[in-house]
Amino acid sequence: MADKFDVVVIGSGPGGYVAAIKAAQLGLKTAIIEKWLNKEEKPVYGGTCLNVGCIPSKALLESSEKFHEAAHDFDTHGISVKDVKPDVKKMMARKSDIVGKLTGGVAGLLKGNGVTTFEGKGMLKANKVVEVTKHDGSTVTLEGENIIIATGSIPIEIPPTPMTENLIVDSEGALEFDAIPKRLGVIGAGVIGLELGSVWKRLGSDVVVLEAMDKFLPAADQAIAKDAFKFFTKKAGLDIRLGARVTGSEVKKKQVEVTFETSEGEQKETFDKLIVAVGRRPYTEGCLDKGCGVSLDERGFVQVDDQCRTTVPGVYAIGDVVRGPMLAHKGSEEGIMVAEIIAGHNAQMNYDAIPNVIYTHPEVAWVGKTEEELKAEGVEYKSGSFPMAAIGRAMAQEATDGQVKIIADAKTDRVLGMHIFAAGASEMIAQGVIALEFASSAEDLQLTCFAHPTLSEAVHEAALAVDNMAIHKVNRKKR
Ligand code: FAD
Ligand code: AMP
Repeated sequence: MADKFDVVVIGSGPGGYVAAIKAAQLGLKTAIIEKWLNKEEKPVYGGTCLNVGCIPSKALLESSEKFHEAAHDFDTHGISVKDVKPDVKKMMARKSDIVGKLTGGVAGLLKGNGVTTFEGKGMLKANKVVEVTKHDGSTVTLEGENIIIATGSIPIEIPPTPMTENLIVDSEGALEFDAIPKRLGVIGAGVIGLELGSVWKRLGSDVVVLEAMDKFLPAADQAIAKDAFKFFTKKAGLDIRLGARVTGSEVKKKQVEVTFETSEGEQKETFDKLIVAVGRRPYTEGCLDKGCGVSLDERGFVQVDDQCRTTVPGVYAIGDVVRGPMLAHKGSEEGIMVAEIIAGHNAQMNYDAIPNVIYTHPEVAWVGKTEEELKAEGVEYKSGSFPMAAIGRAMAQEATDGQVKIIADAKTDRVLGMHIFAAGASEMIAQGVIALEFASSAEDLQLTCFAHPTLSEAVHEAALAVDNMAIHKVNRKKR
């Protein structure tokens, strides 16, 4: 006989586990199924984000940043340190420890909230029946009044660079190097490529990033993207080649020779390791039985409406497996929305206020519309920006690179976007998210009192600059 639940969640990444906890909190009898086994073959929760994504990458970004500061920046503060050396093994152990704490924490939260967990692979069949194949091969059948598909995404592989153990790796492999490669190639100058390239560059690798497109960070506001490109190439030392499409690779002894096309013709580079970071694709393999009725779109995403309903009543899908940005917090918010809908509330999500962050140093972060998008949409806007170089706290922190830019509607003054390239941008952008969520005007931000001295004063000044009223810079135009 099948176990019956109000909600069955398939996948325990930040989409699935948050949905399950919320559903349980709302009084729904909830089950979650997760198939992930870690390196020790132990079942773990938390999905890509906790195991091989957001968290381990940030752990290594932090360690590599600390090493880089100690080796290169302490001297400026009058601190002399000798023999600064990175210990990759220790950095990796620290990273694994953090991952272990967080995935264990998720298991505890699921248990503490009364969610029933199943370790194995879930397959959705017709009539909202889910068959779970456990790791020992046995099966159990669950019946859900409602189903939430939260099976996430996996790295895209491209034929010119097939995965080759210990040499050509995806983002997961790039978080596991046991030594610092002398010469590292990265394919793709997207978020993941830039973050992983930064980790190894700071630890001492020569890093070449090959990007097929001519434009850098096309989704970002181009004033910010230009600032970031200049910094990454001139100051951070990343060799980013735009307009370089990788077409082939050849393993030669313990190295890989990569062939790529540029406007100047075919070129070759040899690397000790190659990271393929060309994007991720939705993952539904083995999860949707033929008769389940759930439709996919032409790119393989589960087809959903604005409230994450699939083509089958009572079956929802959230996170990376559906349209929209592949971000942990987007999946979590969708999980909350769907749990509330199932509990009978009329929940909605504001897709216009999802923050994007690239955790380089300085960080790139934005929310809302870019100037390029507003131009294309024919919206009349005004914008103001403020350089970090004019912020006292930034000077104290040796973090004077970058700027904050705010865009507001020319007629209504409503904040339409905030774009930042600065140290601490990942934290500062929350102010923009709140401004958008609360439909603030630029004037609301202008009239807000910001603590001094803080990096966030740049947000205040950028809001003032929208109306040419910045205090600590000479404004472009007189009012
Ligand atoms: P996932 O986290 O992919 O989880 C899906 C889960 O479903 C997996 O555990 C999988 O094992 C399980 N599953 C799949 N099929 C089945 C099945 N049939 N039965 C049972 N279980 C199944 N995002 C950010 O917002 N910030 C960041 O800083 C960030 N950094 C990243 C860095 C890297 C290197 C990578 C790779 C990604 C990063 N991301 C980041 C993206 C983020 O990890 C994803 O957006 C997020 O994990 C998506 O959550 P999800 O719940 O949709 O799917
Ligand atoms: P993202 O989707 O943000 O993770 O970024 C992935 C990047 O990889 C995109 O900017 C793509 O243009 C880039 N890319 C994809 N295929 C290739 C290729 N063959 N050579 C170089 N860059 C590529």
